[in-house]
Amino acid sequence: MAALKRTKIVQLLSAEEIGNLVKVKGWVRTKRENKNVAFIALNDGSVIHNLQIVADPTEIEEEVLKKITTGACIGVVGKVVASQGKGQKVELAAEKIEVIGTANPEEYPLQPKKHSLEFLREIAHLRPRTNTFGAVFRIRHAMIFAVHSFFNDKGFFNVHTPIITGSDAEGAGEMFRVTTLDPLNPPLNEDGNINYKEDFFGKETNLTVSGQLEGELAALALSEIYTFGPTFRAENSNTTRHLAEFWMIEPEMAFYDLDDSMDLGEEFLKYLTQYALDNCADDLAFLEKRLLEEEKGKPQKERSEMTLTERLRFIVENDFVRLTYTEAIDILKNSKPNKKKKFQFLIEGWGADLQSEHERYLVEKHFKKPVILTNYPATIKAFYMRLNDDNKTVRAMDILFPGIGEIIGGSQREERYDVLKQKIEAMDIPAKDVWWYMDTRRFGSAPHSGFGLGFERMMQFITGLNNIRDVIPFPRFPGSADF
Ligand code: ATP
Ligand code: MN
Repeated sequence: MAALKRTKIVQLLSAEEIGNLVKVKGWVRTKRENKNVAFIALNDGSVIHNLQIVADPTEIEEEVLKKITTGACIGVVGKVVASQGKGQKVELAAEKIEVIGTANPEEYPLQPKKHSLEFLREIAHLRPRTNTFGAVFRIRHAMIFAVHSFFNDKGFFNVHTPIITGSDAEGAGEMFRVTTLDPLNPPLNEDGNINYKEDFFGKETNLTVSGQLEGELAALALSEIYTFGPTFRAENSNTTRHLAEFWMIEPEMAFYDLDDSMDLGEEFLKYLTQYALDNCADDLAFLEKRLLEEEKGKPQKERSEMTLTERLRFIVENDFVRLTYTEAIDILKNSKPNKKKKFQFLIEGWGADLQSEHERYLVEKHFKKPVILTNYPATIKAFYMRLNDDNKTVRAMDILFPGIGEIIGGSQREERYDVLKQKIEAMDIPAKDVWWYMDTRRFGSAPHSGFGLGFERMMQFITGLNNIRDVIPFPRFPGSADF
């Protein structure tokens, strides 16, 4: 007989027939045994469900049986049989068990009990072996796949924009320097400053905060493109919604005005949400139960009115509310938390930058729907956003989500050379940094628009996990770059 190939547990549970001889490999979650029978719950990460292995302890060497502990890796050959117990349709009647990797129970940090997310963050190298993180990472994969399929179906082209950038003109946040100079002994100019001409690239370079500017170059040739890559921000924001390294999806479309771009953003978020509902049901069911249990510990008032899947369906089924920044300021100024001075940042009047507390008030309390805010004051937005005829506001749009706040930030771009030139001069952006960007406005310029979706913010929404550090495998944040 040819050597038996490994069957994944997801395959076994969905397609294998009673009586089939199969081989599985995975990590032991629990083992219960008495003299007559041993039950092993085995998980191989292919699906949230464990496979129940049933073994006759007298048929297995004592040495082997002893090593089957929580966390150990084993291989099992056995017959698929109908399950006697409840909770699963089939189980595996073991004929042969092999220990692939032991896990000393005295030292293995993951015990078969509920661990806090904070604790699991400290052992991020092992947390993928928990139900919660298995579910998160499988959903993360599904969402990555859905992003590409959404744009591919629409004829968008994926563009890789650079991760190391020589321009710090994006203005989206503090940047991480990239250098090969010796920090103890850097080459100096005559005036005593570091001479970056001697650095690797012959100039100062940083990790990118956004692929947008380069994305625009591609859109003004290929019409509709998107980027999906890592971005970096060195701002010291220790919040549950900010990472120092995160992934961003940035579509950029020639011939789209702001309305077209809002339509695309709304369709995109609904597509991703529907994709999760259609393709991640088992993992979502687990996360939903987890969330319900977590909420039981909270006072009634703070519990969310909807379950996780209800929240997801709510996004798919409702139109997003669209309103201008000016209208939003009116609502916020007259809102209860503003009048009672409950906001940390009180809204005094037009021109104020909106904080997450204001965004969430609009979405969660006032409209109880996702909100798209448009036409922000030019003074609080980036240089490349298209100036409106009022000379005061720009064609920006932010999409705000429940529990998250800003999930998408975008705009129609300034395509008029002269207006853009004035803007960069007023903002002191050196022409030598953006000449290539300006060239697209000199040669065949066209109206165009785009936006950025923070992938981890979307993951937070889909999984219901409150902290952004729990939806990326290896979070980077101030003071932490472990694993
Ligand atoms: P915020 O005001 O929430 O800090 P931003 O306005 O700085 O965000 P943009 O520059 O507009 O963000 O970036 C586009 C999108 O990237 C945001 O809408 C958000 O989804 C996401 N994003 C921004 N900063 C971070 C971060 N530090 N960590 C994770 N996602 C982020
Ligand atoms: Mn933004």
